[in-house]
Amino acid sequence: MTDAVLTVRELRVRTRGDAPLALVDGVDIDVGLGETVALVGESGSGKTMAARSVLRLLPANVELTAGGLSAVGTDVLAADGPALRGLRGGRVGMIFQDPMANFNPVLPVGRQVTEPVRIRQRMSKRAGDKLAAEVLGHVGIPDPERRCREYPHQFSGGMLQRAMIAMALVNRPSLVIADEPTTALDATLQVKIVKLLRLLQSEINAGILVITHDLGLVAELADRASVMYAGRIMETGRVGELFARPLHPYTRALLDSRPEGRTGADVRAIPGEPATPATRPGGCAFHPRCRLRVERPAADQARCVDEVPVLRLVALPGTTGTTGSTPSSSLAACHFATEMLTVGHLAQPRADHVPPDPDSAPVVTVAGVSKRFVTKSAWSGRRTGVTQAVDDVSFTLGHGESLGLVGESGSGKSTLGRMMVRLIEPDTGGITVHAQDASPVTGQQFRRTVQWVHQDPYGSLNPKMTIRRLITEVLARYRLASGSRAARVTELLGLVGLPPDLAERYPHQLSGGQRQRVAIARALAVEPRVLVLDEPLSALDVSIQAQVITLLRRLRADLGLSYVLISHDLNVVRTICDRVAVMCEGRLVEVGTVDDIYDRPQHPYTKTLLSAMLNVDPEDRAVPASPVTSTARS
Ligand code: SF4
Repeated sequence: MTDAVLTVRELRVRTRGDAPLALVDGVDIDVGLGETVALVGESGSGKTMAARSVLRLLPANVELTAGGLSAVGTDVLAADGPALRGLRGGRVGMIFQDPMANFNPVLPVGRQVTEPVRIRQRMSKRAGDKLAAEVLGHVGIPDPERRCREYPHQFSGGMLQRAMIAMALVNRPSLVIADEPTTALDATLQVKIVKLLRLLQSEINAGILVITHDLGLVAELADRASVMYAGRIMETGRVGELFARPLHPYTRALLDSRPEGRTGADVRAIPGEPATPATRPGGCAFHPRCRLRVERPAADQARCVDEVPVLRLVALPGTTGTTGSTPSSSLAACHFATEMLTVGHLAQPRADHVPPDPDSAPVVTVAGVSKRFVTKSAWSGRRTGVTQAVDDVSFTLGHGESLGLVGESGSGKSTLGRMMVRLIEPDTGGITVHAQDASPVTGQQFRRTVQWVHQDPYGSLNPKMTIRRLITEVLARYRLASGSRAARVTELLGLVGLPPDLAERYPHQLSGGQRQRVAIARALAVEPRVLVLDEPLSALDVSIQAQVITLLRRLRADLGLSYVLISHDLNVVRTICDRVAVMCEGRLVEVGTVDDIYDRPQHPYTKTLLSAMLNVDPEDRAVPASPVTSTARS
């Protein structure tokens, strides 16, 4: 590759101390000018550590070694303080995941955005203000002259992420490192940020290294991608080929576990939990979860357990390489990568979709519900305005039905969900929950009938209680299973696919997926008819999301539950739900079956939401590809 702006060889990051843990283990990265390369992986895969190593932005308790690390022509390993400062915010721009945490709350946004230039060029205040308005306007922030004098808390999440991008690019860097640049944003904002990154990249021809767990973002943005697992690269290749013909079983499993956006889609969960540096097994790190291994003869299986596979080049027959003559190829760290050329989906269990009975009586009736919030000044306590969060909303939820509530942040979907579990009361209208005999339920019985599953299971579980106490507490509050509560705890854990010995652990000793299962078990303890699930998958890794989707489908079929699923992820909604209700500015603008909403949307807002879905098919990008230099693609 010519015009390389980043070359990393044999990168290793490990913790210091007597028993060091390998966080990144022998990783190579190449990024060319004008090229976008993705490092993709789940939590603990080492992708963020690898990216931060490029600017030596690592915590003090880890050490970095590498066979070579060159960024924009600078030897990063040998660079002294001034040389590193020249890279950071200068020739290398950084975009972080959480812009609010990375802006100083007491300085105007415009001043922070232009700080990298003002410091280097000793710019006057007037020139700095002019530049701030110019760059904020360039990234699409309206009224930039006024906005550049405002503070971070006065910006929405999407605008602040735009400002962060402006700050990263204000020095026209040759390399940009973007760490989960769209994770905290709504689907529509994600597409706008992808568009913006592509536009700006085409203007300054920078190389971009994007760190993400989102395969949709990889498909939309990247030219090449490396899939990381347990600190190592499992597969590297051009995105089109990686998605169409994955050579590593982990890549294949990640693609299969992602909700595919089709009704009753075949979501195939990867069994087990992602390996972490502390739990990484010997041999191939993926072997405990690998479906290809279990289909191999015993001798091959033993090889997977004993021998670490190295990354090797595998030609992709029937494709054409960049030179036009040889076939394309990918690098894969699997002893049997060539087998993957003939294997389709690996035999992960499917999550079958059971449609509800269309003639069933409604279990919830929402009639003309509205809710307003009065906003007050934090300083004077004076009323500053009124927000109509939910405005005259009506719908029904059938027995065994799954209804998706979708919309952007601030559309009112979470407020509506909270009213459905009586965390807040509506100003007008009513929500009626029906018992088996269709009579309305009230009081304590209401709370037993409708249960809430929170977005953040860690925040909703008392960290000082064991899992047994957390579930027993619910049983005791509702005077359930007295005399056999230990057995009921075991039964509930089994219902959500957790082993009984987990009852003695504390929430911090569980993985994110296990905590979400515990939260669901607690909700099921009172034998509800309805679960209101508030973004239940958004904090989980892709493979764990698929496990929870499988679990939710099974529970619905086994227990006859109805769901209200609040989510901004339209792929997840389509995979779990029967009907979808689209909310915009507090109103229901469209309600229909998933087929009607996704295939024949009527309302312009629904069409906008759907057009913002990031696809896993790079051929079907929501955002057209930007021109990339031929040298960068070589
Ligand atoms: S080396 Fe073995 S365990 Fe690892 S991915 Fe390949 S088949 Fe699976």
